[in-house]
Amino acid sequence: GELPSVEALEKVAKAAHAKFKDDQGGKNADYIPALAEVPSELFGVVIVTKNGDVIKVGDVDTSFSIQSCSKVFTMSLVMQESGEQVIYDKVNVEPTGEAFNSIQAIEEGDGRADNPFVNAGAIATVSLIKAKTAEERWDKIIKIYEKFAGSKLEVLADIYKSEAETNFRNRGIAAVLYNSNNLFAEPLMVTDVYTKQCSVGVNAEQLAVMGGTLANNGVNPVTKEKVIDAKYVPKVLAVMMMNGFYDGSGRWAWNAGVPAKTGVGGGVVAVVPNKLAIVGFAPPLDEQGNSVRAQKAIEYIVDTLGLSVFGPGK
Ligand code: GLN
Repeated sequence: GELPSVEALEKVAKAAHAKFKDDQGGKNADYIPALAEVPSELFGVVIVTKNGDVIKVGDVDTSFSIQSCSKVFTMSLVMQESGEQVIYDKVNVEPTGEAFNSIQAIEEGDGRADNPFVNAGAIATVSLIKAKTAEERWDKIIKIYEKFAGSKLEVLADIYKSEAETNFRNRGIAAVLYNSNNLFAEPLMVTDVYTKQCSVGVNAEQLAVMGGTLANNGVNPVTKEKVIDAKYVPKVLAVMMMNGFYDGSGRWAWNAGVPAKTGVGGGVVAVVPNKLAIVGFAPPLDEQGNSVRAQKAIEYIVDTLGLSVFGPGK
């Protein structure tokens, strides 16, 4: 199928926003106390095409924490730096069918973290960045996120503080991985860098440009800067398809049929390869920790335009 026209995209984005803006489903994350304070009614929808067109509806300028959507871009960083095999060998790429913060999943298998998008695998991925110090590791992360977004990004200090004070489960996961030689740098340092990456503030437009860079095969469609090699994009999208929604990934593949990644901050970034990215942002989450309104908006857009990667198109 062809890339839909900007007019068609504007129409469907507006319709998706109108259709779901009053949906009361879901509940803000509260295991990170600061996330419970984010206004639940916020709702933004953005589409970025591979040509750099940006279609925006609703609350698209409000910064929210990127949370697990970050995992996509740190996986990209490690592959760009060290090649894809290191992810395949040291993290693995199998769906867990378990919650994002599952400890059982790492205990059950061969000790590896399973895939880069569950917390265990994301923490392992951070440990694979080549760096001598925590500062250097962090610097590489924020620099590549900024290239993906085409704009300056900052940590949301209140979110970072709130999660850093309460992230005992992630510290435990890092310790278990380290104990079985499946974490490749000091566990508390790695967990802290991971926590910081999850606290990066993005608005829906910035996250959509990040996704748009993947839709455009590794080149930022707005700044035209190359961020990662095109050959790594299918690897990222494959993991998004299989574990972007954790134990909700099968349902997402069934309903939407496009690779996507969610975060407990309420963001969902979906990528239609070679065409466009769609971001939905709304804080209330379903049982698996995935934004209710963002999912519905993206499903509606994909369905209306026939964008499923598995479908015949329209
Ligand atoms: N920072 C969050 C955590 O580690 C990310 C989880 C998520 O967005 N699913 O718990």
